This record gives sequence, structure tokens and C-alpha cells, in this order.
Amino acid sequence: MAIKKVMVIGAGTMGGGIAQLCAQQGFDAIITDINQELSDNAKTRIEKGLSKRVEKGKITDDDKNSIISKISTAGDLSPAKDADIIIESAIENIEIKKKIFSEIDGLARPDVILVTNTTSLSISEMAEATGRPDKVVQMHFFNPPAIMKLVEIMPGKNTSKETIDAAEAFAKELGKDPVVCKSEAPAGIVSRILGQLLNEATWLVDSGVADAEDIDKAMKLGANHPMGPLQLIDFIGIDIHRAKMQTLRSKLDDPRYQHPKLIDDMIEEGKLGRKAGKGFYDYGG
Ligand code: NAD
Repeated sequence: MAIKKVMVIGAGTMGGGIAQLCAQQGFDAIITDINQELSDNAKTRIEKGLSKRVEKGKITDDDKNSIISKISTAGDLSPAKDADIIIESAIENIEIKKKIFSEIDGLARPDVILVTNTTSLSISEMAEATGRPDKVVQMHFFNPPAIMKLVEIMPGKNTSKETIDAAEAFAKELGKDPVVCKSEAPAGIVSRILGQLLNEATWLVDSGVADAEDIDKAMKLGANHPMGPLQLIDFIGIDIHRAKMQTLRSKLDDPRYQHPKLIDDMIEEGKLGRKAGKGFYDYGG
């Protein structure tokens, strides 16, 4: 069945961005969250972002209105019964995601594909919470979803080839250039490689080989990276970085993903990166 209506669960950074992307590409997008207000706030954020693009002359007022008219909001999961595809992008917590998958499985038509945008949780565990594990797949979008070209597609243990093909086709309809992983592994491709790269930079600081400025300068000038690894960790959040390394460390049972004590100390001291005003760099509060 052709996809017309996309339901996005989770009205945060990614959910709002995915809904905007879908609407921009001509799909009807329904944003839902734990209450109506959070979903409405996401729509307001999208509208503000689009107004800025109108001011800059990137899109017309008509473009903006047409995108906004394709976005609706809800405060519960009931729109699942009319959706042609459902993209879960709620908070990164396996129990919450499993509950969502179990509930939408009971509401959505049997042919509907259920997608998760998880960063590193198990797709198979979410699939097992449903009666349609063959129709559960990961589509991992990148921030901001409306701009970033990549979508990583990853199957769970029981995802069918038809579902993977459908996810790939849908990603292309969204104007993306997807990659398809052959089997399930935590954190996919980009997050796993990037996590390890950033972690290595923290070990260099921890062992006193160089300070943050020089490590970042070296990677910018020597590897042509647009941003140094420690600047990037500050941007992502030290706590978010540590959570990802802990997941990789435990799920892959591999000491390569161990983070240095320096990271624990920084979190203890409230040095969480840009959002806290200080991390590897000082942002003046
Ligand atoms: P966020 O914190 O900005 O948003 C999460 C949203 O989920 C919140 O609005 C919250 O109210 C909502 N939520 C919580 N419980 C819910 C429930 N039971 N039902 C519906 N909604 C619920 O987080 P985010 O950065 O948008 O991340 C969302 C997902 O996308 C996570 O799985 C994350 O790992 C993944 N992801 C994030 C990024 C990124 O760069 N931020 C990139 C790719 C994937």
C-alpha cells in the first residue's frame, strides 16, 4: 500500500524534524507525544524554523503554509489506526519503546511497518513486543533530519526483506541516500565509529598527551574534520557520549569502548559540555 500518512511518535528534536521532513516531501505527518501540548510545541517550533527560512528567502510563504498544513498533532497513540507507516522517535529508553511498540501494534493495520529511530537500543527487543516482528525495522535519521542526507536502515533478527526494501524505498521518497546494514548491532555505523573516535580523543586528554585545543586543531588540520572531536563531545553532551560508550561497552562486551575516569569526573563536576556552559571548553556559563 502506498504511504500517504506518517505518524511520528515523540515530539522532541528528532521527532519534530522527521515530521517536518515528511511534510516537506508531501506526506501527511501526525506528531504525537505523551500529551497534546508537547506535540503542539513541536509544530510551533517547526513553524518558527520555517518562518526564518521565509525571511532568508530560502522558501516562500506559500511553501511554509503548505508544509504546516500537512502537519497535525495528537496527545496519544490513537492516530496509529489511520497511519500508513509509524516512526517511533521517543526518548531513548527500552522499556518506554517496548510499551509504545506493543500499543501501536494493537492499533495499526496489520500491513503497517513500525520503524524505530533509536540510536543504540535493540530493534529485536522492540519487535518482540509486537505480533509483527517481520515488519519492525530501524531507520536512523541524523540531526537535523530535514538537512542530513543519510538514513541508516537496520533489521532486527526477524525483519523481512520486504520490510527492509520498503524502508529503503521510503527513505528515498524522503529524498535521503540510505545505507542498509546486513545485521543488527548497537549504534549502527556512524554513531559507533564516531563514538570510538571521540572516546580516543578523551583518552589522549586523560593520559596527558595533548590538551583539548591541540587535539582539536590536529584533527581539523590533519584529518580535515570540520570540528575537533572534543568540541563535538561538548556539543553532543559529555553525559550522552558516556551513555553511548557504556552501551557499546556492555552490549559488545569489548574493553575498547571503555571511557576514561576523566569523563566520570567531568560529569560529577557538572561539566556536561555546551549545555552546561562548560565541558572540555569554557563557554562562559
Ligand atoms: P528528545 O528528548 O528531544 O525527545 C524525546 C521525546 O520523546 C520527548 O518529547 C518526550 O516527551 C517523548 N516521549 C517520552 N516518552 C514518550 C512516550 N511514552 N510516548 C511518546 N513520546 C514520549 O530526544 P531526541 O533527541 O529527539 O531523540 C529521540 C530518539 O531519536 C531517541 O531514540 C534517540 O536516541 C534518537 N536519535 C537522536 C538523535 C539526536 O541527534 N538527538 C539522532 C538520531 C537518533
